[in-house]
Amino acid sequence: MSIAENLQRIRASLKDGVSLVAVSKYHSAQEITQAYHAGQRLFAESKVQDLVTKAQALPSDIQWHMIGHLQRNKVKYIAPFISLIHSVDSLRLLSEIDKQASKHGRVIPCLLQVHVAQEQSKFGFAPQQIIPLLPELAQFPHVRIHGIMGMASFTQNTQQITQEFELLHALFQQIKQLNLPFTTIDTLSMGMSGDYSLAMDCGSTLVRIGSLIFEE
Ligand SMILES: *Cc1c(COP(=O)(O)O)cnc(C)c1O
Repeated sequence: MSIAENLQRIRASLKDGVSLVAVSKYHSAQEITQAYHAGQRLFAESKVQDLVTKAQALPSDIQWHMIGHLQRNKVKYIAPFISLIHSVDSLRLLSEIDKQASKHGRVIPCLLQVHVAQEQSKFGFAPQQIIPLLPELAQFPHVRIHGIMGMASFTQNTQQITQEFELLHALFQQIKQLNLPFTTIDTLSMGMSGDYSLAMDCGSTLVRIGSLIFEE
């Protein structure tokens, strides 16, 4: 199967209202170009250096997303062009994004990463930290929070995965209903190659898919 065929198959399986970001983190500019020619415009990377290199080398109408852990001292490199940061996991990081965005006269769309998986290694806020944190967002006019991002546990147990996605969805709904003036809550980023169908069943609006596009 080619990259174009993989994309076509995945797109056909997306529910209404669900967007696809192609996770190109282990893949070359040449492979990304194949996906681009198949109409894909949203791509995600997990490292700042790769974002910078690939954004320079590839067409300027690609929208680049950051999905990996982001260090504060590296925000400046992506601030000029990043179109969505999924992985905001602290207020100190948010404050730095705000500062760098203001230098470029931008408002950078961001998601708060929420930790729901069993693995300790995954970054993010605890679910119960999110609601109390929301009033703080008013301090950062150059950042706009669009929702939350999460990853389910690495397991075959679909009941476990569903439970975690449902928790994220409930939190997303709760935030949305608050209608805070300094937010636009429209994005629930959850679901990867192995679990995106479950994620869509649980209300995902943005799936992040890498290996199913580039490796099958
Ligand atoms: C790598 C990665 C993905 C994509 O994973 P696949 O299993 O290759 O689809 C999605 N989200 C995050 C945060 C990732 O790091």
